[in-house]
Amino acid sequence: MSDKHFLPHIARMQGYVPGEQPQDSELIKLNTNENPYPPSPRVLERIRDACDGNLRRYPDAGAHNVRCRLGELFGVAAEQTLIGNGSDELLNIAVRCFVGPGDKVVYPWPTYSYYDKLVHMQDGRIVKIDFAADFTLPTDLPIEDARLTCIANPNSPSGTLTPVSVIATLAQRTRGILIVDEAYVDFTEGGCAHLIHQHPNVFVVRTMSKSFSLAGMRLGFGFAHADLVAGMWKVKDHYNINTLSLVAAAAALDDIATMQANAKRIRQTRDHLTRQLETLGFSVWDSAANFVLARIAAPAASWLYEELKQRRILVRYFDQPRLHDCLRISVGTEVETTALIEALAELLD
Ligand SMILES: *Cc1c(COP(=O)(O)O)cnc(C)c1O
Repeated sequence: MSDKHFLPHIARMQGYVPGEQPQDSELIKLNTNENPYPPSPRVLERIRDACDGNLRRYPDAGAHNVRCRLGELFGVAAEQTLIGNGSDELLNIAVRCFVGPGDKVVYPWPTYSYYDKLVHMQDGRIVKIDFAADFTLPTDLPIEDARLTCIANPNSPSGTLTPVSVIATLAQRTRGILIVDEAYVDFTEGGCAHLIHQHPNVFVVRTMSKSFSLAGMRLGFGFAHADLVAGMWKVKDHYNINTLSLVAAAAALDDIATMQANAKRIRQTRDHLTRQLETLGFSVWDSAANFVLARIAAPAASWLYEELKQRRILVRYFDQPRLHDCLRISVGTEVETTALIEALAELLD
């Protein structure tokens, strides 16, 4: 393939490699932080009902139903909400709105590496500030001339949580835009949605992929000052969410209790998994998410990853300096977790 037609900064791009999605249903899949439990039964019912002649029509570009429900649930106005085709699309919209060639985008590292791709697409300048060893927020933040600062909270791949009070102070001191990516917030307490009322530069992004068990429907939502939402609205594709996804989102939001029950169960399994991993000799960062990051000096994490894969258990390995001796393991069902621990015990024996 010839690069000559591409803009130079696009030709230089590496692209983002998502976690593997093998089509093998026997696999114990603990690599992309999907929810092991099904979504609210209402979701399937309402999707079935919506599969009718109305599919010939375009979806509601304003996502009215979903935005009203979000407003009620989170104490924000519909004008302060934005629905995305996954939270990835919302991050994409924000970066296209706020970052031009050479502009500084700052994030603590290691974190969600999709941010790299988004900044590269705009030919922006990435400034990665290393997290401390315990994954507390680097004290050099904020960076004075950053156009955009991104904090995943809880962070991936560490699972660690920065307290809301620390994020609030950062929002106060940040002059550019601050994105708080709360993909995993339902697995912990709190969240930063309320910060949008005091801080017109804060964009809080959430997803239905993890806690709501709807990764396949591609649904994210964002909260910000109405002016910020209005500006980003101009950039989003008008029909960005398909009709069935809108139906699924509204149904899932009408049954928050199912999401919360699943999240509670996952937290219990996570704490159990953490203790078992520690017994096996791993050190595990305190996780506020539906996965854990586990480090081991020997044997090599890359070897463990391969051996687990042989045994049809898929976890995530990152070939990066800070993470080369770590595995990121999603919290599955109790049965899946037991199978993982048994396989690891055998490999470490
Ligand atoms: C999974 C994840 C996302 C993307 O979620 P989608 O809504 O499925 O696009 C965003 N940020 C972080 C930190 C994630 O882990």
